[in-house]
Amino acid sequence: MSGSTIIPWVVGNWKMNPMQANAQQLIQDLKQHLLQEVVSEHDCHIGIAPISIALLSVKTQLDDASVKIATVAQDVSRMAGTGAYTGEVSADLLVDSGIQFVLIGHSERREIFGDNPQILSDKIHYALNANMTIIYCVGESLEQRESGQAEQIVLQQICDIASVVKAEQWHNIIIAYEPIWAIGTGKTASPDDAQTMHAKIREGLNQITPEGNRIAILYGGSVKAENAVELAACADINGALVGGASLNATSFHQIALAFAKQNK
Ligand code: PEP
Repeated sequence: MSGSTIIPWVVGNWKMNPMQANAQQLIQDLKQHLLQEVVSEHDCHIGIAPISIALLSVKTQLDDASVKIATVAQDVSRMAGTGAYTGEVSADLLVDSGIQFVLIGHSERREIFGDNPQILSDKIHYALNANMTIIYCVGESLEQRESGQAEQIVLQQICDIASVVKAEQWHNIIIAYEPIWAIGTGKTASPDDAQTMHAKIREGLNQITPEGNRIAILYGGSVKAENAVELAACADINGALVGGASLNATSFHQIALAFAKQNK
């Protein structure tokens, strides 16, 4: 079933980029684009996920943009509150600094930094307890897709978090479907393949929560200005998580416009 009443989200994942001066310029450029062609928050929400040490400076810069832009943390500690956890930043500390959104479960965290289902469940539990909104990333590898396991893997990743999200917390969950083989590779899932998986995810969510039709399901994996319109036209694609193309203000603005126009 379509989630067409959902306001889409377009979120830029800057990953471990860029240098400070370039980040400031990028935001200036994005703000300029938004002044020239507005993306109303009624049509599409926008978020930027910078490196952790830039969260506050980016937030300050975004706070006076002509439209509301959320500052999103790229990750969060599995520990709560404050304490002797060297190198960690808890959800409570993020919220204390005004950061309300966080990516959890990005495939780079899962694959390179060992974020397994237990660690992800802890992160989600504490982030939800701190009242954060979570963009929970799921997606299959090329090998899993080629062996016909894609749906099973993705639905399992959704089930992995079902026990930690309380009934009243599902409205603070956004799902990002990111096939690993499409991330940073220039290969995008075809709109049909992406829509098929998004519909399956929607079906899975509907089995877990009555909120299923209200949860935004973003697509991620080489989204660019050139393919955004087609992806935005799919019934269950409620926005995009954008890596590489979010480092270019013109492209990122075009992607947000594509989703906003589709939603008008
Ligand atoms: C990502 O890292 O979340 C991502 C989708 O990257 P890219 O757009 O570069 O494929």
